[in-house]
Amino acid sequence: MRASLIVAAGGSSSRFKSPAGQPAYPSKLFMPLDGHPLLARTVSAFQSYPRIAETILAVPEATRKEVKRLAKDYGWKNVKVIPGGGTRSESVFKALKKTGNHEWVMVHDGARPFIHFDHLEKLFKSAQKADGVILAKKVVPTIKKADAAGRIRQTLDRSMLFEAETPQLVKKSVLQKAYRRLPHAFQMTDEASLLEAVDASVQVLPHTGWNPKITTYEDWQLAEAFLKNRGERIATGFGRDLHRLVKGRIFWLGGMKIPFDKGPLGHSDGDVLLHAVIDALLGAAGKGDIGEWFSDRDAKFKNIASSKMLEKVYNAVRSEGWRLEHVDTTVFLEKPKLSPYKQRIKALLARLLEIPEDAVSVKAKTMEGLGEIGEGLAVSAEAVVTMRKREALCPFAGKKKK
Ligand code: MG
Repeated sequence: MRASLIVAAGGSSSRFKSPAGQPAYPSKLFMPLDGHPLLARTVSAFQSYPRIAETILAVPEATRKEVKRLAKDYGWKNVKVIPGGGTRSESVFKALKKTGNHEWVMVHDGARPFIHFDHLEKLFKSAQKADGVILAKKVVPTIKKADAAGRIRQTLDRSMLFEAETPQLVKKSVLQKAYRRLPHAFQMTDEASLLEAVDASVQVLPHTGWNPKITTYEDWQLAEAFLKNRGERIATGFGRDLHRLVKGRIFWLGGMKIPFDKGPLGHSDGDVLLHAVIDALLGAAGKGDIGEWFSDRDAKFKNIASSKMLEKVYNAVRSEGWRLEHVDTTVFLEKPKLSPYKQRIKALLARLLEIPEDAVSVKAKTMEGLGEIGEGLAVSAEAVVTMRKREALCPFAGKKKK
């Protein structure tokens, strides 16, 4: 069972008053909501849902180009962008005409970005027993009905009341019939009202989640705070390494060769600084340690360049959405003095990690002649990384099915 998705995005955002000084956008749908335009969040969430066969976006003529650009930027598939009508209902009517041969139509508000896959599944399941089913919220507050003078006339039975939301999943033929029959169809505020007016059976699917329509600037601020709070993780990782210093080895440190008559003994090139950074990255991402990734019993890692090891680990960490914000390192070494090389090592690290140099710190310390490092028998390094995990476009939508 698959459906055509119609996204009604034709509104003028007349109830949305952002404070002066906000950058100008054609409408609220193009304003970045925690980094992604509101409409991009909404449409992208449906893109990975397998029961949606196609998406028709009804938008104001003036914004069509902008929406097509979003479609390209976000890699949307099977999307048509059409000019909407004077009302939401007219936009849906126009979009209906562009739908392919699918029995069901799902209509959704462009300004409702938080789609739950669970809800979509339940909508499709319940639809089989009706002509339409809409996502709804049980009314919690006590609702009073007053007359024109403001005098309360009735307290409504809230156990029977639901707030209509979207998505609304309806049988296309029944919706088309309603448009044909009803003279005031374009004044109806949702699809369920159209269906009700032709006596079709429409079900509510009550839910307890948060599925806001971003209508006012206050809604916007709430949604943004919600995303920021929910979608972003910050992690700190710590790494430490130590290698014996012996004659006849190249002294690799932070990806550069340090001129010295000794170098670190190791299965790899023994670069303590890069090893510490690797362990810090793995630590922040919770992905084990360097020994699990590069066993010193595995011949293929013999004399491997540590920059290659870093690249492999860093790519794995980044593919999970982690973004490196900052790395702080300290090298513990008695000789040679590192001051002539610190700046170059810092630049090299910044290049390897593809972050600005001011997000990298390389410090050096001697051990005042004490211990194995102080006696020149070993070199050691410590690293601390700070990483952020990018939030998903829609925090509730599932992973893209392969
Ligand atoms: Mg090591």
